[in-house]
Amino acid sequence: MLRNLKVLLAARPNGSVAHTDFSIVEEEVARPGAGEILLRNRYLSIDPYMRVRMNEGRSYAANLAIGDVMVGDTVAEVIQSLNPEFKVGDLATGRLGWQRFAISDGSNLRRIDPSLGPVSANLGILGMPGITAWYGTLKIGRPAAGETVVIGAASGAVGSAAGQIAKLHGCRVIGIAGGERKCRHVVDELGFDACIDHRQQDFAGALAKAVGAGIDIYFDTVGGAILDAVLPLCKPNARIPLCGMIADYDSIERYGIKNLYSAIANRVTLQGFIISDHAELWPAAVTDLAGWIASGAITYRETVAQGLDQAPQALIDLLRGGNVGKQIVKID
Ligand code: NDP
Repeated sequence: MLRNLKVLLAARPNGSVAHTDFSIVEEEVARPGAGEILLRNRYLSIDPYMRVRMNEGRSYAANLAIGDVMVGDTVAEVIQSLNPEFKVGDLATGRLGWQRFAISDGSNLRRIDPSLGPVSANLGILGMPGITAWYGTLKIGRPAAGETVVIGAASGAVGSAAGQIAKLHGCRVIGIAGGERKCRHVVDELGFDACIDHRQQDFAGALAKAVGAGIDIYFDTVGGAILDAVLPLCKPNARIPLCGMIADYDSIERYGIKNLYSAIANRVTLQGFIISDHAELWPAAVTDLAGWIASGAITYRETVAQGLDQAPQALIDLLRGGNVGKQIVKID
């Protein structure tokens, strides 16, 4: 009999996520009913939004209840099917949660095309983070050749893709990342023009120097003090895709932005977006991203933790900047 391993939300974090916020349970795998599929999860995506879902209340989607299986997208393999649309061995992605097995009626699954790259890439560059970078950069940022683009969390899943997409469109791209090692990766491997370490003492001064004449697009994945340092450096009519505010996710009190007035003075557009609102654009985004990867125009990295029991540590690491590229857990 198959045994399922599940990671549950055991407590709401008080600030930073702790191991005691999770519990791991083992139970028998349920049988699929008529029209249903039994899937074995192979890879689990670890994403910053998971931290938000651990809170009480509601954000743009319902938060988790205590005792729920932790929310997360997986790459999964069909191991039993009572649904004519899926056969054993098919691969799909879906929000199947932090668990080894899951049952689905197929409506929440997206088929994987294994010819496009390693299946785990469907959680990163060919999945939600890559598509987020594509949408925020091209549809909100609207880059033009010669413009100056600044990218928050530049070595991460979204930021690394966003910066490379802006480079492909002829922009000068400056990344922001935590630490010298990450900054070197951003310049040497991802091909950004410069990268500023946000942990250095005079971060705002170093950013201003690198930016020179001003910022046309700031792809904001971080919020907080970094957004505050960027705002006064924006050129007239700059665009800021507001993608995430990871600097605040662990905070009990949110950072208050001080330099927002400069957005009025410079006619800056700040536009928030949620990528799941744009499902109709996903196929076009995946076609572009897969083409750029195949031609060598963009590259990507994954940080892979081994074993479902390592998922809590992987989320803790991600929120502290322990990952380079897309954080994934390989489920054994
Ligand atoms: P990343 O792979 O970029 O991992 C998170 C990174 O954030 C860390 O590696 C760390 O990098 C950085 N970070 C953490 N805390 C801070 C801080 N206080 N100040 C500066 N940087 C910090 O994650 P993703 O690419 O998956 O997500 C990036 C952002 O995009 C998140 O805010 C996420 O919520 C958002 N997002 C939004 C979507 C949407 O639809 N709007 C969809 C997908 C993601 P470093 O070491 O460089 O500091």
